[in-house]
Amino acid sequence: MRVAVLLEDRCQPKKCNSECWAFCPPVRNGIECIVLDDGSGKPNVSEPLCIGCGICVSKCPFDALIITNLPGELEGEMTYRYGENGFRLFRLPAPREEKVVGILGPNGMGKSTAINLLSGAIRPNLGDWTSNSKAWTEILSSFPRGELRDYLALVSEEEVTVAVKPQYVDKLPEIFDGLVKELLDRVDERSEAASYAEALTIDHILERDLQSLSGGELQRVAICATLLKEADVYFFDEPSSYLDIHERMRIVRIIQDLAERGKRAIVVEHDLAILDVLCDLIHVVYGERAAYGIFTPARSTRTAINAYLDGFLPEENIRIRDKPIQFLKGRVRGEGLGQALLRWGDMEKTLGEFELTTGEGQVRSAEVVGIVGPNSTGKTTMVRMIAGEMEPDQGWCTMDSEVSYKPQHVSTDFEGTVMEWMDSEIGVSWRSGEFHTQVIRTLQIDQLLELRAKKLSGGELQAVSIAICLGKEADLYLFDEPSAFLDANARMEAAKAIRRTMESNEKAAMVIDHDTYFIDIVSDSLLVFQGEGGKHGHAVGPLSLRKGMNLFLSDVDVTFRRDIESHRPRINKPSSRKDREQKAAGEYFYAN
Ligand code: ADP
Ligand code: ADP
Ligand code: MG
Repeated sequence: MRVAVLLEDRCQPKKCNSECWAFCPPVRNGIECIVLDDGSGKPNVSEPLCIGCGICVSKCPFDALIITNLPGELEGEMTYRYGENGFRLFRLPAPREEKVVGILGPNGMGKSTAINLLSGAIRPNLGDWTSNSKAWTEILSSFPRGELRDYLALVSEEEVTVAVKPQYVDKLPEIFDGLVKELLDRVDERSEAASYAEALTIDHILERDLQSLSGGELQRVAICATLLKEADVYFFDEPSSYLDIHERMRIVRIIQDLAERGKRAIVVEHDLAILDVLCDLIHVVYGERAAYGIFTPARSTRTAINAYLDGFLPEENIRIRDKPIQFLKGRVRGEGLGQALLRWGDMEKTLGEFELTTGEGQVRSAEVVGIVGPNSTGKTTMVRMIAGEMEPDQGWCTMDSEVSYKPQHVSTDFEGTVMEWMDSEIGVSWRSGEFHTQVIRTLQIDQLLELRAKKLSGGELQAVSIAICLGKEADLYLFDEPSAFLDANARMEAAKAIRRTMESNEKAAMVIDHDTYFIDIVSDSLLVFQGEGGKHGHAVGPLSLRKGMNLFLSDVDVTFRRDIESHRPRINKPSSRKDREQKAAGEYFYAN
């Protein structure tokens, strides 16, 4: 089945010569495969007449067309289609009573569309985009008997309400202008604002203005507001962004409590350690961004994540990635490290109420140091001192290495395309060779080159910023929270790209992150931050990965085991036998 998709926001008929139409071989032979719209000038592509030559795709100066083939047998399984050349969604995830259901997959594959269908905001059109009010009897009979069909029957009777925690919490202050308390009071249908605020540790910011909150605070306020609504289904789109691992674990417990109270919860999450411990079942979603998305039936959490990492979905007989993502079990790292590229001694910094001390440490060539610890304990401050953006009040830090730095908050005001932006930052060498195959391709930046740099989404901007940082000539590379806004796949690829670049060029990197899988893949050693957020922070290390993880995780009070098959780390259930044994032995991360 051929699919032709027009990316409406990229198509700019006023700025091109209708190349898609002019060069289309069937059109040149008098066949109306592409017809230009009288008004807008945009192309309508006829899928039955398209020969799949791909000439329109390559001729379009704005990369606005996708011509692709759908995999496998999906006949009769289309749930929604936005238009003739619009995005299409196949199947749906099924919310379940008393269960947390996870969705695993990239953005742009129809998760929001699915939620709108499950909440009744839009009605399944089964692929017929001309009819958005199909009879429910026809809709229901098109789904196989089971959980999903029963659930949709409730939707058809308007008997379900859905509460949604949206993906981009930074937009919250634009929507609501006022105090945290006022926002929560407005949605507090069961008078639980006080108890949820305490559980989410936002009770001390209730009197603050929404505009003044940090990303992590906004995230917790948004989650709180969602929980306070009285609904049947609770949907959380990326609840862990901006949160440290303590806070992520707190969110896990709160969402699981919700399910135990009989509610249905659906969660989109890219931190796989969190998704793994949080969910009862997972739907993997795959497809082609902006063209089509396919939800697989729910599988057990372990099976779904292992298949996702392996890159092959056996039931669907579909490969979703060329190579598996591998975790190394019990590897001895830190071998083959060279000379110290950076050393520091007892740096101290006071910022307002906050005090940081760093102890002594060094980073050697070919070493990647992971940096972990609670929010507001000075991780960014230390990295900024190393980058030379800030002077320590006391102590010292060697300054003879060339540093390339990706700050925590990425942004650009570059006027031009991604390609031009990259050229202006790092020259043209990135366009070919090893860097192109190992960084540009794996981070899928090759698909963004024609886009305006200013128009990139959060995840796209993050990926390009990582590539620019890696592409600069330097000895020491500093990354502040590179996993933010990236999907699970992009996170693993970014971690691998950072590792490979350091190994092959004998450079060194320091990487702040809250995603355990990211840290596990990227790090040789760990710099652990301890202290009380906003008051004082202290850096310990770099320590060996094992020692560092033990120190860090004993603070979080969480133990990990390794999955026997994939070797990925998995959070032990609190107070389970393994959890108790590992805590007693002091082995928080590496015991099997
Ligand atoms: P996700 O939540 O997984 O990021 P969405 O469901 O938001 O994905 O969007 C999937 C695709 O559907 C996107 O490529 C988007 O362009 C398209 N899409 C979303 N909403 C609309 C709409 N109202 N009209 C046309 N296309 C849409
Ligand atoms: P982390 O990266 O570990 O989250 P940061 O280094 O960003 O922590 O911040 C540590 C503390 O220092 C926070 O409480 C923050 O509010 C405070 N802080 C950071 N920069 C400044 C500044 N320029 N002025 C006053 N306080 C600051
Ligand atoms: Mg920080």
